[in-house]
Amino acid sequence: MQIIRTVPELRAAIAQWRERGEKISLVPTMGALHEGHLALVKEGLNHATRAIATIFVNPRQFAAHEDLSRYPRDEQGDLEKLRAAGASAVFLPDAEVMYPAEFATTVHMSGPATAGLEDKFRPHFFDGVATVVAKLFILADADFAIFGEKDYQQLLVVRRMAKDLNIQTEVFGLPTIREADGLAMSSRNRYLSTQERQQATEIHRALSQAAVAIRGGKAPALASRAAKRALTKAGFRVDYVAARNGQTLGLPQGAGEPLRLLAAAWLGKTRLIDNIPV
Ligand code: AMP
Repeated sequence: MQIIRTVPELRAAIAQWRERGEKISLVPTMGALHEGHLALVKEGLNHATRAIATIFVNPRQFAAHEDLSRYPRDEQGDLEKLRAAGASAVFLPDAEVMYPAEFATTVHMSGPATAGLEDKFRPHFFDGVATVVAKLFILADADFAIFGEKDYQQLLVVRRMAKDLNIQTEVFGLPTIREADGLAMSSRNRYLSTQERQQATEIHRALSQAAVAIRGGKAPALASRAAKRALTKAGFRVDYVAARNGQTLGLPQGAGEPLRLLAAAWLGKTRLIDNIPV
């Protein structure tokens, strides 16, 4: 596995593979890797002969008050996991490599995929994600990019951005990998105390109960409200629980459309997000 920290090295590795006619998958991450990330790498290798993982804690998607400085970092552990998962290369740029001092471009997202969920609580977030992912897509010139449904709105935003900018990388979404008790794997789970870790299972439970209720005929808005109440009762401070169209993230229009239930809620200082299909 090649460990790459600069743009010229990355370009050289990719050019070599391209010359041999190899296909390339890209897996962008912020590190502190878990089984969810590794599943993306393995999925990348189902589509292509080469998988490039990137590890970059992107300052542009954190607001000043957020957890950039304490975001978990474990470079050695990450490299071992990526090697074992079969990654061909890992790109770990410094912030100066991605954003030199004179850097002046932002990819600004608007439209239905960025209307009213994460963007409402983290207004800087999707422009930061779109900017860094656009740079990675252009740099890696990958055939495929694999993202997790765990960050469902992000997946749709990245897909939109790639289409809008005529980037030919095909974006795949992989279902969320969970712990045995249902909690979605997340680098941020490392922040949870033992007690919070137990409480955290409620987020998947509440969403699952809401999904069952909606399938049984309950109005999506009512089921979401009940899930929000259940999370509050379990000790969460809830940003949102929402039922949305699973393809557009627009508000549900009536029977027959694919629905997605999405939630974001705080346990102490940790913000957890999760979502499930109905
Ligand atoms: P992050 O390192 O949190 O920025 O995540 C990098 C990629 O891994 C994103 O595409 C996430 O959606 C994906 N991911 C994170 N957690 C999971 C999970 N539990 N299952 C599947 N994919 C995940």
